[in-house]
Amino acid sequence: NKYVYSFHEGKKEMKSLLGGKGANLAEMTNIGLPVPSGFTITTAACIRYYDENKILWNELLDEIHDQLMGLEKRIGKSFSDENNPLLVSVRSGSVFSMPGMMDTILNLGLNDISVKGLANSTGNERFAYDSYRRFIQMFSDVAMGIPKVRFESLLEEMKENKGIIEDTDLNAEDLKVLVEKYKEVYLNELNEEFPQDPIKQLELSIKAVFDSWNNPRAKVYRRLHNISDNLGTAVNVQSMVFGNMGDTSGTGVAFTRNPATGENHLFGEYLINAQGEDVVAGIRTPDEISHLKDIMPEVYDEFVKITHTLENHYKDMQDIEFTIENGKLYILQTRNGKRTAQAGIRVAVDLVHEGLINKEEAIMRVEPNQLNQLLHPTFAESTLKEAIIIAKGLAASPGATSGKIYFHADDVVEAKARGERAILVRQETSPEDIEGMVAAEGILTARGGMTSHAAVVARGMGKCCVAGCSDIRVSEETKIMRTKDQTFNEGDFISLDGSTGIVYKGDIEKVQPTLGGSFGEFMEWVDEVRVMGVRANADNPKDAAQALEFGAEGIGLCRTEHMFFEETRVMSVRKMILATTLEERKSALDELLPVQRQDFYELYEAMEGKPVTVRLLDPPLHEFLPVKDEDIKELAEAMNVSFDDLKDRVEGLAEFNPMLGHRGCRLAVTYPEIYRMQVRAIIEAAIDIKEKGHEDIYPEIMIPLIGHINELKYVKDEVLKEINLVFEERNNTVKYMIGTMLEVPRAAITADEIATEAEFFSFGTNDLTQMGFGFSRDDAGKFLNEYVEKGIFEKDPFQEIDRAGVGKLMEIAIEYGRKTNPNLKLGICGEHGGEPNSVEFCHQIGLHYVSCSPFRIPIAKLAAAQAEV
Ligand code: PEP
Ligand code: MG
Repeated sequence: NKYVYSFHEGKKEMKSLLGGKGANLAEMTNIGLPVPSGFTITTAACIRYYDENKILWNELLDEIHDQLMGLEKRIGKSFSDENNPLLVSVRSGSVFSMPGMMDTILNLGLNDISVKGLANSTGNERFAYDSYRRFIQMFSDVAMGIPKVRFESLLEEMKENKGIIEDTDLNAEDLKVLVEKYKEVYLNELNEEFPQDPIKQLELSIKAVFDSWNNPRAKVYRRLHNISDNLGTAVNVQSMVFGNMGDTSGTGVAFTRNPATGENHLFGEYLINAQGEDVVAGIRTPDEISHLKDIMPEVYDEFVKITHTLENHYKDMQDIEFTIENGKLYILQTRNGKRTAQAGIRVAVDLVHEGLINKEEAIMRVEPNQLNQLLHPTFAESTLKEAIIIAKGLAASPGATSGKIYFHADDVVEAKARGERAILVRQETSPEDIEGMVAAEGILTARGGMTSHAAVVARGMGKCCVAGCSDIRVSEETKIMRTKDQTFNEGDFISLDGSTGIVYKGDIEKVQPTLGGSFGEFMEWVDEVRVMGVRANADNPKDAAQALEFGAEGIGLCRTEHMFFEETRVMSVRKMILATTLEERKSALDELLPVQRQDFYELYEAMEGKPVTVRLLDPPLHEFLPVKDEDIKELAEAMNVSFDDLKDRVEGLAEFNPMLGHRGCRLAVTYPEIYRMQVRAIIEAAIDIKEKGHEDIYPEIMIPLIGHINELKYVKDEVLKEINLVFEERNNTVKYMIGTMLEVPRAAITADEIATEAEFFSFGTNDLTQMGFGFSRDDAGKFLNEYVEKGIFEKDPFQEIDRAGVGKLMEIAIEYGRKTNPNLKLGICGEHGGEPNSVEFCHQIGLHYVSCSPFRIPIAKLAAAQAEV
């Protein structure tokens, strides 16, 4: 059983074993790129490490030693050498990239002997001792848990005593003194000497990387990105190259295309005389990659050539880390670059045009949920004219947002819980801020570049971010942000434009986005490939129009109760509900009929002949009732009854368990005249449309909450009577369908009976989940996150369909339903209809369409197309 692979032995297909970074280092080594030598300890070793109670077992150590010997031989250096010592970096590398979430140790191998070797081989004693000092601090912090401040305070103290400001003003002798002091700190903290043996250093570092797989921020990151906790991380041990050896050295990060817009040009930044993490950490603000051409033209040309090689090899936009050591270029990492949705689509479409991938591959390249980003608002042009610009930073992640400023991640989380819109303002962010970044509307940082933590993470989340905004001074301690001439305190409103980098004062009005360019072409391909239909849940003409704009193919759910909530109508609705006689009720329904008819007319008109599924009234009646005494009084006057009398009636409608109470078709059993009014409005409006010469509409009338065939028979009979009455009166007809929501478990397992009376089933997976699990939809939110946190459920079943249970009920319903009605039409209109994983399931079980909120239509379409590929 092999647990350690040299870079020569791996390849990119071995990602699950070597992690993303290790697999790509191996691949690059084997296609002849200048990669510093090294080896990878596999994810399988990490998993076994946890099984072995976090001990590195002997066979593994033997393998590591063998690989070390091989490495020493290959590059002609060895550990603890007085002239030319081997130094290595130790980095984590999981299967899915988790930027900045786990640990890294650089310059491992430095000790009292090899530091001299480093000084000799580089001819730079200052550099050698500075590296040693940094290594002691990094190793102590990362591998041994000694807080960084223990060391940093000594550094500051020395600078103060010497009256200097910059670290670079410390000379070799100063650094030697610091090294000794640092070793003392180590001894005092741990009661043992700082390990001089590189092998011991390496073992402890490998353990630290394995342990970092389970650090809290890594766990949060995995939860957010749906990454399993069981994958483990690989460890990459790689010989060091130095970007901090003077003015012919440097380090940088570049994307082969612009990760914000997708434009096809090299995009990135570098720092001269700097080491690895300096660029990403955002401590110094780096220079644009194109300037490298002026300083080191040959290195630049070589780098550009390598970027093309890598893009053609991986057939995708690459995110590449490089280091230049004394004028020689090394590639330290490549991976498929993280990008905004806009860039994701542009790159995928361009790659098809460039002949590197086909349309199906392009479709698979874009993560459906990422499309959310494209649907983000921007600031209204008109209001921007008056807006006050307070600062400008880097346009790190697009979108427009406003909120109150907070300076700590915790404060943002709390503000969000209070229902506020909050913006996280930081000097720079670190992985510890992750929960605050999730809760924030947007992120603003004073330092750091386009590849800084804030920028990379915000882009991944599709969250608006302005980074490296040097126009502002941030004091996290006093919770104050200063611009040139203004001061902002915690709780003040600002607005961020992540597409321009501009920061505004106050809360600016936003407008909804319009889609075009590559998006249109991409969605055409999606529509070509996709077979399952995508409809919208919409119950007014405005939403219907929005849905059409996003490409909806019909309405899959019009919740008619939403029409009842409208202010001008609710009085009639209340009269109808509280009527004591049939006459009173009918007279209230007569008031509602014309407005319902108008609703449907406008909806049909907006949908231009596309199918419209109208669901008859569903929620328990008491939801419409007045609660406050003054409202009851007003209603009593209008109805000409006493206040007490009416109050009694209102109270009489209260239920212990309304979601399982008198709602849906159960209402129609008690008050069939309500559904009859609605059906009359549906059919009359359809005939009106027809007679006005619009596209014909074939309404699909949907009866909710059916659990027993006899309920459906009873309601359907009433519905049919009314339809035929209208046909007679109007001396005209329209085509229509009658179907049912499939949302009660009993309906699913008697679907063969139900299907004899229904032309379609639309799965109401909200209720099917509620009743399948017995989780109250209105209350389960309070405890379901515990289920997820404790690993009892992988996902909240109200969000992502529970395939094994609720999904099984759906499959049973389909199988049984088709037995008695082979032409049964099948759809879904629960919230799951716009959730990519559930959409895939719907495709697999053979639904004809999914229906979701308008803004999720492109997402559902893409998920449906991906399910087909
Ligand atoms: C459902 O139950 O899934 C559904 C779509 O109906 P509602 O959410 O209105 O109960
Ligand atoms: Mg329902």
